[in-house]
Amino acid sequence: MRILILSDIHANLTALEAALTKAAGRYDAAVCLGDIVGYGPDPAEVSEKIRKVAKSSIRGNHDKAVAGIMSTEDFNPVAKAAVDWTRSQMSPEQLKWLAELPQGPKESEGIVLVHGAFQDEDEYVFTPAQALEGLLDSSASVTFFGHTHHQGGFAYLDNNLEVLQIRPRANESFAPLRIEPNKRYLLNPGSIGQPRDADPRAAFAVADLENQVVEFWRVPYEIAKVQSRMRSAGLPEPLIQRLEFGR
Ligand code: ZN
Repeated sequence: MRILILSDIHANLTALEAALTKAAGRYDAAVCLGDIVGYGPDPAEVSEKIRKVAKSSIRGNHDKAVAGIMSTEDFNPVAKAAVDWTRSQMSPEQLKWLAELPQGPKESEGIVLVHGAFQDEDEYVFTPAQALEGLLDSSASVTFFGHTHHQGGFAYLDNNLEVLQIRPRANESFAPLRIEPNKRYLLNPGSIGQPRDADPRAAFAVADLENQVVEFWRVPYEIAKVQSRMRSAGLPEPLIQRLEFGR
């Protein structure tokens, strides 16, 4: 079973379609780690697409905020403006679907999905110390997380925690990670719709645990098209500009 792992799509349909086109034929089932909407110009279309494509989805903090089940008090003014605009673009039925997305951790297809940290879906995992509880507490040896929009992750064996610098270079499409039988992994596929790890290409992962490999992919997409839709929608300029830098 090859699993396509999508995360942090953030209402960017052009990036999602580029990723799905590249991944076509390379996976048997797709899963989504949340932040389906928020920031980008296509919340209704992206929600419909994920509903169709993903076998399991969990919610992210932006999904909760847009669905009205989480306050936007902690959001910065730019993110909050995007939340309000996003809500205005979605049907009551789509908002209900968002509101009913399950909370991680959730086991699906032999892996565990979380949006943020293992014990707190809204918490960021950047450091080995933050990764440790997820690595130890997860019910599967391979857990996928999102939220940071940074592709890569962590591996654990015998009290030794390793940071995995695993990303395709600018001239490569993917970088494979060999999964070792005794190790535990906490892996981030990166963000489809708003990467923040200095590579503006859409990021995703394909896990094939029977063959002990996880591939980390990057695919270019037409950023200018998304930016022009964002400008027409009146979305905040910092959100528009960051797409081309991947920051
Ligand atoms: Zn996100």
